[in-house]
Amino acid sequence: MTQAPADAEARRAAAPVICYPNETLPVPDMALYAQALEGAEVIETVLAAPRDACSFRVEAGQFFRITSVEGPQVGDLNLWNADDLSERFYSGKTRALHGTHLTTGERMWSAFPHLRPMATIVEDTLGWYGIDQYGGSVHDVIGTRCDPYTGNLLSGSQYHHCCHSNLIRALADATGMSLAEAEPHVHDVLNVFMCTGFTRDTGQYFMKASPVRPGDQLTFFAEIDLLGALSACPGGDCSSEHSSDSAACHPLQVEILAPREGALEGWQAPARNGYDRSHGR
Ligand SMILES: [Zn+2]
Repeated sequence: MTQAPADAEARRAAAPVICYPNETLPVPDMALYAQALEGAEVIETVLAAPRDACSFRVEAGQFFRITSVEGPQVGDLNLWNADDLSERFYSGKTRALHGTHLTTGERMWSAFPHLRPMATIVEDTLGWYGIDQYGGSVHDVIGTRCDPYTGNLLSGSQYHHCCHSNLIRALADATGMSLAEAEPHVHDVLNVFMCTGFTRDTGQYFMKASPVRPGDQLTFFAEIDLLGALSACPGGDCSSEHSSDSAACHPLQVEILAPREGALEGWQAPARNGYDRSHGR
């Protein structure tokens, strides 16, 4: 332990400052989205099988809805621009802008140099959960995705149905890429329905039994044309462990919904970020 300076308490007492005050973020027109969703029809349904992933395509201006079916289950979500896989979800910047967990009105932002909203959450049936006594909440952007490399590092295992591998297979199947070509495109996820936080005493990432029950849903508005992949995590409800076949696992359903013609009158897909990219040269 290092020696604390004489003014340690005073230094600790400095007030926190929000890194990115978000009052100037572009505000989504939630009333317009809600109205469009009301008249929207399901045009496609896909299922992520337990310990496996599915892919789906959503046009800008459509919705996609993830639903818990059969039993409590968390999902790992990746999003790409359907026409340019280099534009993909940026979990770290989304966390910096909105906080550790996402809910209605918050958005999934794309990586540099694009940095624009890819999808906006329009409905969240777990919105009531809030932050529990352990500091846990749902739909986090703090975890990465369970993966076989960390399992191997910690226990020497060779497990093939972690979300990382599931997402690779789903992306390869959706695009015709090989597994090796697909792997670098898989990225840190939105942990749908997962309940997580950091312990106050040691700062460690924790998970706990998800409050999700069959029928719970998380619904998104697609701001740009999207290719998505969703893995039904081998952790199931993440109440005990992941990266093995020991947890009870359930499927997750993804529905694509198209609004009625004219329902999005006046709406425009967001433009790419306006920074000129000259970087001081
Ligand atoms: Zn997982």
